[in-house]
Amino acid sequence: MYSGKAVRLNALENGITELVLDLNGSSVNKLNQQTLMELEAVVERLHQPSNAVTGLLIRSAKPAFVVGADVTEFTGKFQQSDSELLTWVQSVHSLFCSIENLPFPTVSMINGLALGGGFELALCTDYRVMADSAKVGFPEVNLGICPGWGGTVRLSRLISIDTALTWLVTGKPQAANTALQLGVVDRIAPLETCRDSAISLLNDAGSNYQEKRLHKRAPVVKNTSWDNDFSAFVDSYSSKLDPNYPAATEIINTVKSHVSLPFEQALDTEAQAFVRLAKGDAAQALVGLFINEQQMKKAAKHWLKQAKPVAKGAVLGAGIMGGGVAYQSAVSGVPIVMKDIREDALTLGCDTAAHLLDKLVKKGRLAVQDKQHILDSITPTLHYEGFRDVDVVVEAVVENAQVKTSVLADVEAYIAPDAVLASNTSTISIDWLAQGLKRPEQFCGMHFFNPVHLMPLVEVIRGRHTNDQTITRTVAYAAAMGKLPIVVNDCPGFLVNRVLFPYFNGFNRLLAQGVDFERIDRVMEAFGWPMGPAYLADVIGLDTMVHADQVLQKGFPDRMTHDGEPVIEALLASGALGQKNGRGFYEYESGAGGGRNKTASSTVRHIINERLQASDEVSDEEIVDRLMIPLCTESIRCLEDGIVTSAAEVDMGLIAGLGFPRFRGGALRYVDSIGLQAFAKKIEKYHQHGALYHVTDGLRKRIESGSTYY
Ligand code: NAD
Repeated sequence: MYSGKAVRLNALENGITELVLDLNGSSVNKLNQQTLMELEAVVERLHQPSNAVTGLLIRSAKPAFVVGADVTEFTGKFQQSDSELLTWVQSVHSLFCSIENLPFPTVSMINGLALGGGFELALCTDYRVMADSAKVGFPEVNLGICPGWGGTVRLSRLISIDTALTWLVTGKPQAANTALQLGVVDRIAPLETCRDSAISLLNDAGSNYQEKRLHKRAPVVKNTSWDNDFSAFVDSYSSKLDPNYPAATEIINTVKSHVSLPFEQALDTEAQAFVRLAKGDAAQALVGLFINEQQMKKAAKHWLKQAKPVAKGAVLGAGIMGGGVAYQSAVSGVPIVMKDIREDALTLGCDTAAHLLDKLVKKGRLAVQDKQHILDSITPTLHYEGFRDVDVVVEAVVENAQVKTSVLADVEAYIAPDAVLASNTSTISIDWLAQGLKRPEQFCGMHFFNPVHLMPLVEVIRGRHTNDQTITRTVAYAAAMGKLPIVVNDCPGFLVNRVLFPYFNGFNRLLAQGVDFERIDRVMEAFGWPMGPAYLADVIGLDTMVHADQVLQKGFPDRMTHDGEPVIEALLASGALGQKNGRGFYEYESGAGGGRNKTASSTVRHIINERLQASDEVSDEEIVDRLMIPLCTESIRCLEDGIVTSAAEVDMGLIAGLGFPRFRGGALRYVDSIGLQAFAKKIEKYHQHGALYHVTDGLRKRIESGSTYY
């Protein structure tokens, strides 16, 4: 009946017609411009009485039903004017209403994921049959927007207000059973029988579907029970609302205001909310981030295709990091040998893994019988037996260049000639460590972040001699462990620490000027960081901080040195290590319920007062600028120096490795949002604070050519 690039129409028996979504050249169906255009053409055709259609089945030819709108098209769309954007959203509303008003019963067969626009499309049909393994949901909130094609309207009229809002503001995909219990779908069935089940629904529909339509579009009566449900939801959720992520609040307010309006007006209310959110900074940053993430995953897939899979790993050192790597490898299905020189370290490494697995069992995410199997796949050892058949060895012994070179040279003699050797060093140059090796081309950095099981980033560091096979295999190992690998070129601090320490340098300069560290923490947390710099230093450990800072000062003496002794060094000299020994910028005590209470340390105040170089009035805005300028400028330098190849890698590295505020999209997106010219002006304003406040040549060139980082 119709065959396009994304949609087909097939006539089945008894006048039943099948609309098959099958986007050419894509592994998933997305509601991109092409698909929407074809849907429009097809729906117009279906409305013609001459077709003698008696029922419509909408299904997918891909493993997922529809994963949503095509987010890559959002970037261009969101640049349009408010009225253009509104017109676009309204045109999709009228298409979806036209599907909803077809003069015969309609059913969606949700065979796999139906997310965002895909779920909205399914909500337009009279019936929904869902495979028992499928999921539905509205993840839009994670992109800083709300569903814009009728999702908030149709869902809030279909199920109770508290449940609808929970689905909309958490963005979590929902299982088939839940959807059936709530009446979001009419039937669930094993995948193989879904299509028959959907067709039988159409055959049996009679005229019942018309009643369903009336009910579905009818405004909700806001009675006392509705009010109670709404208030209960708002009470339970309000502590999670964050003004930096305005979508959830906007969704709650929008649904509240449209739920009792006539259907078309409700759709308009939703469309306006969508435009408001889409034009906001958070949505622009979060959509950009989503695209970056896809780009990174694609890049990793590219490496993976060329890589020999990693069947067995090994880790040297069973400490904080080594133990974490062993756990992560084992839980991801790659058996691993864990070597240390101390029996007690091995025991601790294994106990930590067991403890983490227990947590998974408790949460219902791991079967009890699988726990032992995973633990058995970690082989603790004090010797090099079992190293002959490993594919990748991760060295995670103490951060001491001499110890590392000797350990690396030792292990090289025990591994297969084609095995990869990787170091988890945080600071030591990969080229330097490679000097004592016989096969430096098979050596690289593999920098995990602490705690390994929670932090998504792994920097894969390419040294001067590292060959491509080594990189692909290490990337493959990181990806097999569920991590986001970013390939970076060797330099002091690699990407993440090279960018972080200029930020701490700025922090130290503020302290020397008499700005209170608690205030700095508060200001930076309000800016969006999960913790301010003083607290972060305590979490990292003051010994680690000082060590890394010294490496960076040595690596970039033109800009990363300090005026006088930095406060963190003096603090370390006083015996404070941060959270490790309960003493740092804050003092830590175990609180009720297993938590830790922190109070500002009086020792620090004393140390700071001794070092005061000035006592200036500094505004909150200046605090942000004085810390963010060095961080952003160093990010720019990393790009200019070819440490990474794209702005997306810089930003993803900072978000996944440092917890850079997601709603700001990363350092380079942040610079773009300020405007390059305006950012350069800010830098110049603070030039008296040293060489970290300096406009780079590359930034000047971009300003001259009018380009941005994205
Ligand atoms: P750690 O002190 O907790 O563990 C080091 C382990 O190495 C100890 O168990 C020690 O017994 C063992 N060891 C020492 N010599 C050894 C040898 N010859 N063979 C085998 N094992 C040996 O240290 P960590 O915090 O796990 O750090 C390990 C590495 O990871 C360092 O290079 C560090 O810079 C890096 N790193 C640490 C973090 C962090 O936050 N802790 C983050 C990223 C990277």
